[in-house]
Amino acid sequence: MVEKKHDQIWSKVRECLREEMTGVSFKTWVDPMTPVFADDTVFILSVPDEFSLDHVSSFIPLFQNAFVQVCSRNYKVELTVKDSQEMTEILRSYTKNSAPSIKKDANKKDANLYDSSLNPLYDFENFVVGSGNRFAHAACVAVAERLGGRNYNPLFLYGGSGLGKTHLMHAIGNYVCKNQPEKRVIYVQCEKFVNEFISTIQRGAGAYESFRDKYRNADLLLFDDIQFLEGKEQMLEEFFYTFNALHESGKHIVMTCDKPPQSLSTLEERLRTRFSSGLTVDIQPPDYETRVAILNKRAQQNSAIVPDDVFDYIASNIATNIRELDGAFNTVIAYSLLSGNINLETAVKALKDIIQAEPTPVSSDLIIDVVARYYHVSSGEILSNKRSKDVTVPRQVAMYLCRYVMNMTFPRIGKVFGGRDHSTVMHACNKVSADINSRDSSLSNDIEEIKKRL
Ligand code: ADP
Ligand code: MG
Repeated sequence: MVEKKHDQIWSKVRECLREEMTGVSFKTWVDPMTPVFADDTVFILSVPDEFSLDHVSSFIPLFQNAFVQVCSRNYKVELTVKDSQEMTEILRSYTKNSAPSIKKDANKKDANLYDSSLNPLYDFENFVVGSGNRFAHAACVAVAERLGGRNYNPLFLYGGSGLGKTHLMHAIGNYVCKNQPEKRVIYVQCEKFVNEFISTIQRGAGAYESFRDKYRNADLLLFDDIQFLEGKEQMLEEFFYTFNALHESGKHIVMTCDKPPQSLSTLEERLRTRFSSGLTVDIQPPDYETRVAILNKRAQQNSAIVPDDVFDYIASNIATNIRELDGAFNTVIAYSLLSGNINLETAVKALKDIIQAEPTPVSSDLIIDVVARYYHVSSGEILSNKRSKDVTVPRQVAMYLCRYVMNMTFPRIGKVFGGRDHSTVMHACNKVSADINSRDSSLSNDIEEIKKRL
């Protein structure tokens, strides 16, 4: 009744809930639950009895929040008692409405070939194309449509973290699984490949053979985060054999990396040349328009009405990483589930820990102010001619910080501090330096603390 992709979503939601709830609560309420029906908008979960139904109902907002976190989507969550009359009726009403699609899915040949490590939500439809990723997207679609041969093979996709490399890679895999179900698609994260290889070696020759065959029989190998192989000689060797075996038989290889092949410094030349022998494309941070388009898409997926100034606030403040952009959006949505509406004010509150206000630029005024407060004197006293020790020490510290935090010249500092001579300033700075270096002085701690407050 529940498609594999929904099962996968549910298991991720469970993991998320496991972190949010106490161990006992999770084991008591969530462990016995199973999804009995799901489509793109609703998840129906069964609970063992009426008592659980009553209790777990109060958790529904928490569940919805977890769905938003896992797949940026606002699912309607319904509960029903397992095998009850009510459950039969609910299922009948839902499956009647979505019968065609269920039938279609049941007829799919791809069910057992579908690589379970592919995330069904990472597809081309969900990928927003903009100036930074247009070429990468086009190359991935081209590979997905015409697999094998020398056409863009291997495809080497590189760029910074959170820019959509993994998403595009899954999209190729999902597309091929859907349209050419007979093809063997393997998606593997480099780290997993390494771990698998190590445990295989420990288990002996038979295990190694099946490991080797698994990868060398792929029609499409999606190898994510190849930079992880850097410096791992034996792994590189293994990957090189797999790569050659696949490449020579015209099978497709797609790799992602956080840098271009020529920057993989510890890679032998023969590997570097191989990796860049097909098509190498980079993916750049999204421009403002793309960021807003991605946020718009998330709003649609959540059926959420989000004002333009909220989009603008998030997109203007989170510029270089789509994962963080998504995280910020999910936080706003989760926050608004509690507070009831989405507006700029709630967005600013929800994101206060993520988007910090612009730091105040350090100035001599700020230094004098912070030092004065630290030593419980006034700024006026620091700038005055008073010569008692409770004022001269803060004054010298403030001068020292103007010199070494702001790089101000001695004459300039002298001017700021009420027209003092540059030699006076120099003397003050030298004195503070000497004090910091003397073992029994607490000045060094004072200065570190003041710097933190600046
Ligand atoms: P990378 O592998 O480059 O570190 P991911 O592919 O994991 O980045 O992307 C991080 C998140 O941002 C994922 O949730 C992904 O779906 C989303 N994302 C990245 N680029 C886009 C895009 N162009 N459109 C929609 N979502 C995107
Ligand atoms: Mg990635």
